[in-house]
Amino acid sequence: MAPCLEYPAEVAGLDLRELGEFGLIGALRRRAGRPGHPWRVAIGDDAAILGLRSRADLSLTTDALIEGVHFRFETTSARALGAKALRVNLSDLGAMGARPLGFLLSLGLPADAAPETLLDFVSGLLRCARQTGCPLVGGDTVAAPVWTLGITAVGALPPGRALRRDAARPGQRVWVTGSLGGAALGLRLLESGAVGPGDAGFVRRQCSPDPPLQAGPKLLRGGLATAAIDVSDGLLQDLGHLARESGVAVELDLGRLPLARGLRRRAGELGLDPIELALSGGEDYELAFTAPARGPGAAALARRLACPVREIGRIHAGRGVRLVEAGRGGGREPGASDRSDRARAAIPGWNHFKTSGGRSEA
Ligand code: ADP
Ligand code: MG
Repeated sequence: MAPCLEYPAEVAGLDLRELGEFGLIGALRRRAGRPGHPWRVAIGDDAAILGLRSRADLSLTTDALIEGVHFRFETTSARALGAKALRVNLSDLGAMGARPLGFLLSLGLPADAAPETLLDFVSGLLRCARQTGCPLVGGDTVAAPVWTLGITAVGALPPGRALRRDAARPGQRVWVTGSLGGAALGLRLLESGAVGPGDAGFVRRQCSPDPPLQAGPKLLRGGLATAAIDVSDGLLQDLGHLARESGVAVELDLGRLPLARGLRRRAGELGLDPIELALSGGEDYELAFTAPARGPGAAALARRLACPVREIGRIHAGRGVRLVEAGRGGGREPGASDRSDRARAAIPGWNHFKTSGGRSEA
């Protein structure tokens, strides 16, 4: 007979049926700990209180994640989900140039939520909160037919200086941090059950995004950028938002896209188009921004932002996103073979984007 182990609560999980709503809130409160300044009041009162000592603009953002719509436990672990739920919000704050102060968690749970799953989710979430200096300061806990997560994060930035989407001007350069397309390929691999031994990097990009959260605040403080947007829906669509809000045209150079390492080869094996994944796949959580043409070059920017950065285009007078291929011959990998015609033909709505005066929504 197997030994009967008495697990301490930490190991057995968070049993919702045993804890009930208030037991779970108590467990969250204990695990989250007491946030320091600028929080005067956090979990436990009717509402949290922020007591800023110096003048700042506050930036607020929220994202909902619904089981079966935005995630499935078949393809993501609860621990990774907890961290991702917070990081995608912090990516939005970073894209405004804000530093995170804290977040609220709206937690809708099925009554039969597995205790281990709930513990893993809370552990992943609160670990991420500690890593990013963004404490859990309140929320709501309710019963729901499926896991229903809402995170609302608040951040601070110097008054009047946010990195907005509407400040790109003709002549400025367009930059993007990190690499593109990896998360989208990770999702395709997970969904099709085709994850191979060499695919860990793509799966990690999908399940555990690690946005360059410092890049926005550094750009803001250094006066290095004019406009910024985080790349969550796909570069093409997100640059389309920036173009529309700024009333300008973006010329995007396909030859300069920073494709994720190994993307070209692996996408090719699966019959997928790496350029399309990089342009429209989504969930990259990189930062796209515009900067004056006379500003620092790639090496200096990368040093100051402490992350890779690539110039990918220019701002012109006009509207929409126009694709060209004038760059260094296609991404980072040697042996690039797919030329623009094939790549462009595969991009949904490409002609739509190309049409001068065309709108940028796909
Ligand atoms: P009320 O009934 O006034 O909304 P609740 O009983 O919902 O109060 O919440 C009590 C306290 O616990 C509040 O401070 C609230 O912010 C906090 N809280 C509730 N649910 C969560 C959660 N999922 N995460 C963090 N804090 C929570
Ligand atoms: Mg409540």
